[in-house]
Amino acid sequence: MNAPIQDNQYLVLIVDDEQLNRMQLRLLVEKEGYQVVEAKNGREAVIFFQQFHPNIVLMDAVMPDIDGFECCTRLLSLDCHKYTPVLMITGLNDQESVDRAFAVGAMDYVTKPIHWPVLRQRIKRLIQQSQLQQKQEILTQELQKLATIDGLTQVANRRKFEEYFAQEWRRMVREQTPLSLIFCDVDYFKLYNDTYGHRAGDRCLQQVAQVLQNSAKRSVDLVARYGGEEFAVILPNTDAEGAIQVAQNICLAVTMLAIPHSTSQVSSHITLSAGVATIIPQPGSDFEDMIVAVDKALYQAKSMGRDRVFYSNH
Ligand code: GH3
Ligand code: MG
Ligand code: MG
Repeated sequence: MNAPIQDNQYLVLIVDDEQLNRMQLRLLVEKEGYQVVEAKNGREAVIFFQQFHPNIVLMDAVMPDIDGFECCTRLLSLDCHKYTPVLMITGLNDQESVDRAFAVGAMDYVTKPIHWPVLRQRIKRLIQQSQLQQKQEILTQELQKLATIDGLTQVANRRKFEEYFAQEWRRMVREQTPLSLIFCDVDYFKLYNDTYGHRAGDRCLQQVAQVLQNSAKRSVDLVARYGGEEFAVILPNTDAEGAIQVAQNICLAVTMLAIPHSTSQVSSHITLSAGVATIIPQPGSDFEDMIVAVDKALYQAKSMGRDRVFYSNH
């Protein structure tokens, strides 16, 4: 990310092989309140660019060795470039040079002799634009996050579940390794709400979600809120034995939370029932079948008395 924020803190990297040019530019740019770093060739420009993260680069087009066009290409291939505009300063007013400047990714250009009233406006506008782009990118990332996360529990939402499950299904088809799925549902949760109130119910779901999140330890595992008080855990590259173990750990950890539930028919505390299914997905088979299977397993766990894990081999 580029240096922020107040106008007078913006940093301008001036790249020019002639000292006199650099000095003139520096005087003008500093007068506007910007800070300045100078590079006398393309090599220095690349180093200072990475070191100082300038907010804009003023790049002389004609330099020995690495010229401005080549240097621009190199800068824009760096990871840290993303929002840093490069403004080419060229003595060449011909069509080809202008085209080349834009072709290598320069955001703008001015010709020598420099007309300062124009250049200062362009510098200002380019920095403003890039700042705006950065803000928009942050906003977009936040929005994307919001669109995939459940507001109450902060685990993935149903939409993310569907997307990730389809994706991992396809990956397991290619790899021909087992994919496991756990559905967990809080036992007698309606009674919990009736007894302790809806707010307490919400807090309970938050705690259960946290347990799930802590129990699914691999980076490819995904915990999602599937419905009201029902959670799903996707365990890629995991066989039945492993998945049953994770499900049992989850149920045990929820019991250990020791959240009182005086009206539960199975325990004095909050408990979970879990259904588990494992499959090596085959080309052409339907992943909905696996959802149906795991749903049935959960139903089995419920009907066998709750507070337990049931594994379905379909
Ligand atoms: P079972 O043991 O068979 O699962 O019984 P249950 O009462 O847990 O299941 P049921 O599906 O009958 O009730 C689920 C309850 O979960 C009803 C609903 O009000 C509650 N619930 C769903 N979403 C939320 C939520 O976001 N917050 C709270 N507090 N309660 C919720
Ligand atoms: Mg329930
Ligand atoms: Mg339910």
